[in-house]
Amino acid sequence: MEELLTKSEELRNVRVALLNVLEDTDDLRKEAVDERNKTMTIIENLNDGVILLNKNNQVEIINSPALEVLNIKREGVLGIPFANLLDKEELAEIKKAIIDEKDHKKIKDIYREEFSTSKDRHVEITSVLLRDELEEKGFLIVIHDVTKEKLVERMKTEFVSVAAHQLRTPLSAIKWTVRMILDGDVGSINEEQKELLEKTYISNERMIRLINDLLNVSRIEEGRLLYNQEEVQIEDVLEGVVNASQEILRNKNIKLKVEKKELPKVIIDKEKMGLVIQNLLENAVKYTHQGGKIKISLDNDEKNVIFKIEDSGVGIPKDQQDRIFTKFFRAENVTRMETDGTGLGLYTTKNIIQAHKGEIWFESEENKGTTFYFKIPISNK
Ligand code: ADP
Repeated sequence: MEELLTKSEELRNVRVALLNVLEDTDDLRKEAVDERNKTMTIIENLNDGVILLNKNNQVEIINSPALEVLNIKREGVLGIPFANLLDKEELAEIKKAIIDEKDHKKIKDIYREEFSTSKDRHVEITSVLLRDELEEKGFLIVIHDVTKEKLVERMKTEFVSVAAHQLRTPLSAIKWTVRMILDGDVGSINEEQKELLEKTYISNERMIRLINDLLNVSRIEEGRLLYNQEEVQIEDVLEGVVNASQEILRNKNIKLKVEKKELPKVIIDKEKMGLVIQNLLENAVKYTHQGGKIKISLDNDEKNVIFKIEDSGVGIPKDQQDRIFTKFFRAENVTRMETDGTGLGLYTTKNIIQAHKGEIWFESEENKGTTFYFKIPISNK
């Protein structure tokens, strides 16, 4: 009898304990649901589009801004493979960048790329692989609308382009007027007047140069850089630039050696390629001390023509080398020297080379010298 009583007591205790556990579990479940709702509300109210994919790359979470950019309805979207959402023509560019061509299940890790989803909408997409120490958990895709920034950028480019065009005409007029006075075409001038006018002429030339640089930059940004592609011997372009540079070489007493061999013809925009070589040669002269040396060589391999220009100049500080092709960037060691420049030359140069499907790079050591290289494909098919 006593044994029975103890048993029933025990049972009662177990029941109470079970009820407590159930209550706790219920609380935990409620908490988890609350947390999930909170997270979903935050994701839903973000300005950016957010898509969370599971490890099979099926849509697990997608917020309204993402649905809007991809122009799809919410119904039936969950569980669908992400690649299927990008089947529309206007999303082809994004699909190509994110989804592996052969294996539709694979998503590529990309860090901020820009796309246009329609004529006047631009987005920046980031896709990040989510993983813990053990396994891959899926992908997080963030879509950021940059339409407004693009518009402002375009307006800025247009403004620079219009302003530069407007400035070019009066500057040319000044150039020719000063030249005529200097040449004595409108009567004689004394030494002092001549000296002043020569300074005016040089400053004016500098302004024309800056305006031309700005025009080239706006052409790059408007995507209309190359117009006259023709088959040429690149040696001829080099020769033209070298001939036109004799005076600046003489002024600094710099020896220029040119090594070339017979090269295959290349299809290039002759004028733009001249600008590339001129920029590189003028930099080599500008950033090399009096009496220094410059060597240019032209070579080719099976696929490319390779240009090399080596100087014995001031070099580029190691910690600034990664910024050298950035617009308006000038390294610290040259801003301390008495040289003028805009920091637009190499930006333009790199863009021209890339428009020819080529590559440009350099090696440099401070106070020893710099070598710039570029290569362009012999056939651009
Ligand atoms: P700019 O010469 O007008 O300043 P660039 O875009 O042509 O502009 O060059 C950017 C910067 O790269 C220069 O200001 C200079 O710091 C560095 N640089 C380019 N070429 C050389 C060179 N040959 N030697 C040393 N520094 C160079």
